[in-house]
Order: sequence, then C-alpha cells, then structure tokens
Amino acid sequence: MTPTTKNIAVLGSTGSIGRNTLAVVRQLQGFRIWGLSGHSNLTQLADQVREFAPAAVACTARTDGTVRDLFDRTETPMAWTGRLMWGPQGLVELASAPEVDIVVAAIVGRAGLESTLAAVHAGKRVALANKEALVVGGQVVIEAARRSGAQLVPVDSEHSAIWQCLAGGRRDEVRRVILTASGGPFRNWDRQQLQQVKVDEALAHPNWRMGPKITIDSATMMNKALEMIEARWLFDLEPHQIEVVIHPQSIVHSLVEFVDGSVLAQCSPPDMKLPIQYALTYPQRMPGPVRTLDWTSAWKLDLNPPNAWQCEALELGRLVCQRGGTSGAVLNATNEVAVQAFLEGRISFAEIVPSCREILEQHQTNPTPTYQQLIEADAWARQEMNQWILA
Ligand code: NAD
Ligand code: MG
Repeated sequence: MTPTTKNIAVLGSTGSIGRNTLAVVRQLQGFRIWGLSGHSNLTQLADQVREFAPAAVACTARTDGTVRDLFDRTETPMAWTGRLMWGPQGLVELASAPEVDIVVAAIVGRAGLESTLAAVHAGKRVALANKEALVVGGQVVIEAARRSGAQLVPVDSEHSAIWQCLAGGRRDEVRRVILTASGGPFRNWDRQQLQQVKVDEALAHPNWRMGPKITIDSATMMNKALEMIEARWLFDLEPHQIEVVIHPQSIVHSLVEFVDGSVLAQCSPPDMKLPIQYALTYPQRMPGPVRTLDWTSAWKLDLNPPNAWQCEALELGRLVCQRGGTSGAVLNATNEVAVQAFLEGRISFAEIVPSCREILEQHQTNPTPTYQQLIEADAWARQEMNQWILA
C-alpha cells in the first residue's frame, strides 16, 4: 500500500451500486476497501469480506451477533480479525471512522440518510448514490457539508454528467441543466396500458440493471422527479433551471446549457462503473473497467419531450424543488411505501404517482425543518400512505 492509498467505506456493498463499486476498486490502483456494510444478505457480505479483508464491517439487519454469524457455517472458519458492528449505529460508526477517506453512500432509500449525514458531518468525501438522502434532507445535508468541509460528489449518472459539464463554464454562466431519462420500459405505453402493468414487467428495465426500488422509480418516472430534487441541492439550482428530456439510449447522461446558448453533454455507455470511478478518482481520470463507445458503427441518439403521464411524476419533483423544507421527506416516504406496496401486489402501478401527489397536497410544508422534524414528516407520510392503501 502506498502512503497515498485512499480508504473507502462502501455503505450498501451488497447492492447494485455497492457491487459495481467493488468491481471498480478491483481494477484501480491506490484505493483500499476499508469498510463494507450489508443488510440482510449475509452470505454475499461474507463473500465480500473474504475477498477484500476490510478493517471493519457493519451489518444492519441485526443489532447483535458474532463473526461466526457473518460467515457461512459450512466454510472452514475464516481468520478475519476486523471490527464487526451491528445495527444502524454500526453504520454510523463505519461512515464516520477516522481511517475512512471516501464513503460510498449506496444504501437505498431513507434508510441511508443517517449514515450519509454521519459521513458528511465527519467531513468525508461522500460519493453519493443514495439520492433519497438529499431528497429527504437536502438543506440539512448541504449545510452540514458546508460546515464540515465534506465533499459531496455525485454517483448518479445524470448528476455526474452535469458535474463534469459544469467544468465548461462558471456557475453564474449556467442557464439550465437538462436531465436525461431513459423513460423505462413503458415509455411508449399509453394510460390504458399502464393500468395493466405487472410487477415483472416493471422490474425489466431496458438499459440498466439496478436494485428493485430504483427500477420501479424509473418505470414511473419518479426516479427523475427525485433526481430533479437531487440536482437542485447538489448544484444549487432554481426549480426553473431543471429540465428533463427522454433519451431512450442512455448514452447522453445529461446536459448543461450556458447563457450564450452553448450546450455541453457527457456521453458514455450505460454503465454505473464510470460515474462511480470518477467519484473516487476526481479530480483525476484513470483507465478503468468501462468499455468505450464504438464510433465505427452507425447509431442514433433520440431526445424527446416527456409525454403527459410522464410529466405527472416530474411535476411532483418540480413542486418539491419549489417548496423545499419537509416536502421532499413527504414525497420520498410516500413513494417508498407505494413502491413496496406495488411490489407486494397491494396497489397497482398506475396508483403510485397519484397517491403520492394526494398526500403531498395534504402536507403543510415546514420550510426550515430540523433533522428531527424531517424524520417526523417522513413518519407522517408513511402513515398516510399506509392508510391510503388500506382505504
Ligand atoms: P439495491 O437494492 O441493489 O441495494 C441496496 C443496498 O442497501 C443493499 O446493500 C442493501 O443491503 C442495503 N440496504 C437496504 N435496506 C437497508 C437498510 N434498512 N439499512 C441498511 N442498509 C440497507 O439498490 P441500488 O440499485 O444499488 O441503489 C442504491 C442507491 O443508489 C439508491 O438510492 C439508488 O437510487 C441509487 N442509484 C442506483 C443506481 C443503480 O444503477 N443501481 C443508479 C443511480 C443511483
Ligand atoms: Mg440516475
């Protein structure tokens, strides 16, 4: 290990982004997996511990246990002597450990907020995949980063693209940003067809292999609504400065338009390993595992405006960008509950966005919430959505 080796803690290492992070680190010089975290998939977590021998591991689904619980009992006992932490508190400890230079925040949903915030408070570089942390706690997270000097770097491909394009001008020269959306599996479906969506159809994303929650979010367009809010906080944008276009090929990851009318785009194959790698190596670029685009064969890039049903979710994103405060916590919580209910067959696909809107409209936004008030807004919205589902 060189003296400049960077220690990485991957929160959510057993998920899609977590596994892609490990694939990047396998091929990069100068980075070490110092910590891993997993939730319920102990077998996979144990495999990762065997391979990377991290100094610490957090396992959140339980609050106690032994190293033996972590490893498959049928294997020969393994001589891993790192620190094992259990429960949500273990995650916070891992995220703020002094030895850690970079925290990859790759837990899905509001469950990642506390540890992401802990990493921010500890002044880490936070490679942020967990967009829900910013949707719920945007202002609190950004202010904490300002105070601690933490560097929030995007992993979400659209935000990584914008971040890269922003290097082409000054911040006050930006007119607007244009987020691209693949449109998911139903981009050419009409409202009638959306009434009949089955779970396995919604889980079959045409371009990306991701965890189930974000895959459903992509199909409803709620993912793009969450990304509008994420962009608002990451880049300090006004709501009217954020546009969305449908781009089915997922090659142009987003664009920035400057005041002179010039537009910069970032393009690469649809592979999350690239934005993950850039978040780790920034400000440098290094060769990595991602294949390059093929410029020798013909291909085309489509960019279309979103249709009427796609705009419904985007409007919720815009509304939250305008209202701020507790409204993001409410939108996120209602959506998390609705997605889970859809996956369990308790509501239909077409009900997800309208039910979120209904509850968001009932909510009185607190414009300057504390962390505790965000958690309360989240709990209120979950309860409201659960009642909506039962009604
Ligand atoms: P995933 O479902 O594949 O993985 C989620 C990870 O979070 C797993 O490691 C799981 O163990 C952990 N986890 C789940 N519930 C937890 C809890 N209650 N406490 C602690 N840990 C918990 O999800 P993913 O697709 O890797 O997405 C992770 C985040 O990255 C999401 O916020 C998503 O929006 C964002 N993101 C993902 C992609 C992608 O390509 N997968 C792209 C952009 C952004
Ligand atoms: Mg994205």
